[in-house]
Amino acid sequence: MELPEDDECAINRFISWVYGGSIPAFEFKIKDREEAHASILIASHILPLVSLANRLCINEFTNQVVDVIQDWLLKERWTFAPQDVPRIYEITSAESPFRLLCAGAVALRLKFQPNVLEEYTGIELEHPEFFKHIVAFQNKHWRQLYVKDADPRIHVRSGLGIFADVRGLGNQCLFHTHAEGEICHLEKLTEPSNAD
Ligand SMILES: [Zn+2]
Repeated sequence: MELPEDDECAINRFISWVYGGSIPAFEFKIKDREEAHASILIASHILPLVSLANRLCINEFTNQVVDVIQDWLLKERWTFAPQDVPRIYEITSAESPFRLLCAGAVALRLKFQPNVLEEYTGIELEHPEFFKHIVAFQNKHWRQLYVKDADPRIHVRSGLGIFADVRGLGNQCLFHTHAEGEICHLEKLTEPSNAD
């Protein structure tokens, strides 16, 4: 662990998780839906936490980091812009759920805004896995994204990023990593009330 070198906000969120079991939500807002401003927010708040989670390799912490990022994308109705993608790939390891989240969020954007594909081309020169991850995400999850209750384990949330209106897109467990037999913290949360 190299905590002393890490970003203070990221460490504080990690400490909150250690002592309170949850990570405080991201409250920062994108000014006037400016892509440049969003990228600054992502670089200063989200990437340090992603980097920390990637190095700690603690499933439950990583999963909750995935959740707060997804919640923020949903709240701001945003996705990852072309300049954000390489930054995420540079600080994560091959099987990182953050890569899947990133590719998934971009895949959803491309589904609804195919004209922006051009903006994402070129990333594959440095990170050839990026488009492979997009295709893998679509193959694995496309059906679940459109069919409510396709998998009863899925926690249907109201959306992800700019695609908040499409039913089921916000299934947060899509991007989690669970050891065999491990119960998702979302499932633990929803058990008593049996709510979806
Ligand atoms: Zn889960």
